[in-house]
Amino acid sequence: MLTIGCHLSSSKGYLAMGKAAAQINANTFQFFTRNPRGGNAKAIVPSDVEQYLAFAAEHGIDRILAHAPYTLNACSADEKLRDFACRTMADDLQRMEYTPGNCYNFHPGSHVGQGLEAGIAYISGMLNEILRPEQRTTVLLETMVGKGSEVGSRFEELREILDRVTLTDHMGVCLDTCHVWDGGYDIVRQLDEVVAEFDRVIGLSRLKAIHLNDSLNPLGARKDRHAKIGEGHIGKEALIRVVNHPALRELPFYLETPNELDGYAAEIALMRENYR
Ligand code: FE
Ligand code: FE
Ligand code: ZN
Repeated sequence: MLTIGCHLSSSKGYLAMGKAAAQINANTFQFFTRNPRGGNAKAIVPSDVEQYLAFAAEHGIDRILAHAPYTLNACSADEKLRDFACRTMADDLQRMEYTPGNCYNFHPGSHVGQGLEAGIAYISGMLNEILRPEQRTTVLLETMVGKGSEVGSRFEELREILDRVTLTDHMGVCLDTCHVWDGGYDIVRQLDEVVAEFDRVIGLSRLKAIHLNDSLNPLGARKDRHAKIGEGHIGKEALIRVVNHPALRELPFYLETPNELDGYAAEIALMRENYR
């Protein structure tokens, strides 16, 4: 069965997200661990988590994906901001232990003119500081479009970060279809080649999740503007091929398209109908 869901608001807790997912025929979902612009996280309510886990087991929801605030920059030039990213992510990973066995995705960051090498060193350094041998969460690097000085738009950059992390078993990658397309990987005409390139450079065993988005912009535009499925330059047919690709089809897929719940329900139904 296809594992697919969408990004949901976490403001009402885990059980509310589980119920929203079930309502739209999703069997997974993504959520922000706290306000996406940063700030304090609401305390985890153990009874909410407990009720959620029972609900999830009953409704076949598993492998949920947490997303770090996108304003964090682990490779900022400002030490205070690097420190903030480090403390926030360490705190998030502790909270993730309430729901063991899931993934935590983050944007590697922007090196803001310090250069790729410095950026990669800061990002892997932070990971070496926060990862714990006993943790049960896998931390994912998200593929980025490469706008400005974003790190992670080339598979080689992600590989370099992974190579420098000591507790490498706790690391993986989340591939965002809009981001790789905007970054210049032609998943419309050359999906097999892009998947083979990912395997050659990073290794498919590292791939743990897919963000399933269309893009408002053409190949290589480096803009990062998500579109609804079929309303962008990637298109419905190409995204159906992504979901059915033999190397990808067992992964969990997350829609981050500009939709409300009913729009997500329709996109989930579309992908389920076309899953072979
Ligand atoms: Fe993201
Ligand atoms: Fe994404
Ligand atoms: Zn994006």
